[in-house]
Amino acid sequence: MPTIGTAESLNRACERRTDKDWIASAKFHARARYMILIELKPAIVSDEERSIASIRWFPRSDIEDFGLGREEPVFLGLDDDENPHFAINITEHRARAVPEGPFILKPYVDVRGLAGQGTMSPEELSLAGMARAIASWHTTQRCCGHCGSTNNKKDGGWRLKCWSCGQDHFPRMDPVVIMLVTDGDRCLIGREQRFPDGLYSALAGFMEPGENIEAAVRREVLEEAGIKVGKVTYQESQPWPFPHSLMIGCRAEALSTDIKIDTEELSDAKWVTREEVRKMFAGEHPSGTQLPRPYAIARKLLMAFIEE
Ligand SMILES: [Zn+2]
Repeated sequence: MPTIGTAESLNRACERRTDKDWIASAKFHARARYMILIELKPAIVSDEERSIASIRWFPRSDIEDFGLGREEPVFLGLDDDENPHFAINITEHRARAVPEGPFILKPYVDVRGLAGQGTMSPEELSLAGMARAIASWHTTQRCCGHCGSTNNKKDGGWRLKCWSCGQDHFPRMDPVVIMLVTDGDRCLIGREQRFPDGLYSALAGFMEPGENIEAAVRREVLEEAGIKVGKVTYQESQPWPFPHSLMIGCRAEALSTDIKIDTEELSDAKWVTREEVRKMFAGEHPSGTQLPRPYAIARKLLMAFIEE
């Protein structure tokens, strides 16, 4: 099952981004390819049954024909043959102005939805996630946070520079700790208020300035579930471009077991045994409890636990 950010199909060629002349000519490279996102949703190619999906790449000539030649694209990287790849994000309003746009650009699909369907390869999903994250950053950082003037795109879209005060702005990433708290053969799962009925997952929360990963894990678990945590170990991470998080997956050993939930954050939390988790994965648990979808890192944390 594909996950976001587990594979890289393009060389990001970061060293080329700052070469203005190189970027300018790469845009018109004979084999340059463009991803078009409409309201952050990439245009894709799909079969009738919607069982496979891939990014729909457009040549530069299409970009010109669509009237998008003046858009400043995001440089995504180079493929094995050194062909440059770019992404352009436009509004739905703009898409309607493209000759036959509503027809020619469809379907365009939410990246999160694509991850959930499992119909796109991990490499393409990662690329779509990267393009979405940068495009989303551009849409929310039009103005300089320092002086309020207009930001201009630089370095193939990977830097924004204020035209007035010269302040540089770089893409932000928000670290989130997501942790499976364990107590011997049991682990702690919780339900956030916004979750669909029956769904439980590992606890998670944003890191705060001045914290390391271990401190953030201990604080979040204590705040949300009233459980004290001792040893914290890192397991794996996953970019989560909705809009720009990095999920840091950890295991946390419980020092206490009495649950006291913060009802602002959680509607429930409970200890479950490995055997129960196996039944939940199989959809055979009498409580009807559901666990996260395969593309979510929480699922991997739970899988690693039951496989021990
Ligand atoms: Zn400024």
